[in-house]
Amino acid sequence: KENKPAWLMGSISELAMVRKVDHLTGLWNYEKFMENMGKNLRENKGYLMVFGIDNFKNINVKNGRTFGNRLLKTIVNILEENSDRFTKLYRLDGDRFAVDFPWKTRADVTAFYRILKKELEKYCTVSAGVVDYYADDGEDSSIIYQYAESALDRAKKEGKDQIVFFSFEDYQKRLEQIQFQDELKMAVKEEFHGFYLCYQPQIRGEDLSIYGAEALIRYKSPWRGIVSPMEFIPFLEQNGLICRVGEWVLRTAIEQCVRWRKYIPDFHISVNISYVQLRQEDITDRVLDILGESGLPGNALTLEVTESMQLQDYSYFNKIFYEWKRHGIKISIDDFGTGYSSLSYLKSIDVDETKIDRCFINRIYNNMYNYRLLSNIIELAHGARIQVCCEGVEKEEELFSLMELHPDVIQGYLFAEPYEKEKFEALYMKPEVEEYRKRIVQEERFRCLHSDDLQRFYGVLNSNYRQRDILKNTRLGL
Ligand code: C2E
Ligand code: CA
Ligand code: CA
Repeated sequence: KENKPAWLMGSISELAMVRKVDHLTGLWNYEKFMENMGKNLRENKGYLMVFGIDNFKNINVKNGRTFGNRLLKTIVNILEENSDRFTKLYRLDGDRFAVDFPWKTRADVTAFYRILKKELEKYCTVSAGVVDYYADDGEDSSIIYQYAESALDRAKKEGKDQIVFFSFEDYQKRLEQIQFQDELKMAVKEEFHGFYLCYQPQIRGEDLSIYGAEALIRYKSPWRGIVSPMEFIPFLEQNGLICRVGEWVLRTAIEQCVRWRKYIPDFHISVNISYVQLRQEDITDRVLDILGESGLPGNALTLEVTESMQLQDYSYFNKIFYEWKRHGIKISIDDFGTGYSSLSYLKSIDVDETKIDRCFINRIYNNMYNYRLLSNIIELAHGARIQVCCEGVEKEEELFSLMELHPDVIQGYLFAEPYEKEKFEALYMKPEVEEYRKRIVQEERFRCLHSDDLQRFYGVLNSNYRQRDILKNTRLGL
């Protein structure tokens, strides 16, 4: 009878122990890990490594769970064979292991990882994240674990099969990214608050008259100021929000185009559309509905699609494009020549326009190779009745060389940067304002310089400026 309490105690503590052991591998589990680390952090210094098998899910699917379990046990054997009595091993969850190296050096940890990697070579690769800790530096075990996880995260993101040591700057950056992503999510929820569009003019190559504009999204953050779409579009694509934002862009740009057509009746609008949007099941109708509601004729709208890997499924996309084209909408291949495509791409996808990236236009006036290349691309596109838009024209010399090749549309800082709608409107639709007149004169100057007709240029100056201004302008410009 006296023994009974003792037996009970033993059983309770065993039960408690059992709860802290991982059944498959016999290692300590997450709970015990947290408990031990807490103590550790008060007394020791050292390194904590967290690692995982790369693509473990795929390995399981391919070879079955039994194989997967055996692999986990193999790992435990390797770990145990290569640890001394100070090193502590844990299986946290799934394929996630933790190794605690009190009193070891960075070199020891790296050596340990190398051995592990070598021994596993024929089964799989592993990625590891490591953080160093000191007694009494104020961090608790969950923070230390989080740091190690974030280093592991980076190891996986940057190609896997590697060890990454935690750095506080990386972590800070990562945190800021996460905060920014949350901010974007809120912005979308709050009726796209902070998002707005800029418009960059597209100019006809033949007479430098205005053809239309490309709508380009911007985001104004209360904390960070204006953020480039190059930075936030990838986020929106990752979390799928690009679908809602893209629709908002389309609607806003189309409505703007309708208003501007009162000034310039054949004004065109180009809108960027992400492959993520194109993957939505009902994208064909969504676009057509927005267009229908606006009353804009389809042939005033161009949708710009960036050529990419994701666009290789020709028959799927051609089906969508076919429907749109039936309504007059034009399809443009953006950033042509920078990505995956070759000229053969233009044959597989039924497009109306190709936008040639700035890198081909850059310095064509003294780069014979680029000039010939561009000349061939334009000729080929025209042969296939594809319109050509040359992007990123910044210099007069580029424009003059380009004009010899007869692109259909030209876009670039030389004419104008992307402007907010008020400024765009003043520049192209308000003859009474100064900016408008300046622009007319500048464009006439391009035309006349190109055709060596200075006589005409003075005529235009005369009709736009008083004598005094002509003198000022001629001194400045010629
Ligand atoms: P993109 O479609 O190739 O747009 C052209 C980019 O080149 C714009 O950058 C524009 O400001 C810039 N650019 C125009 N002229 C010149 C020039 O003469 N020289 C140089 N160096 N650059 C010039 P932005 O506005 O920063 O947009 C960057 C990219 O973000 C766009 O490249 C597009 O891929 C994406 N993007 C912008 N708005 C949207 C949108 O509404 N939806 C989607 N899905 N993507 C968008
Ligand atoms: Ca574009
Ligand atoms: Ca482009």
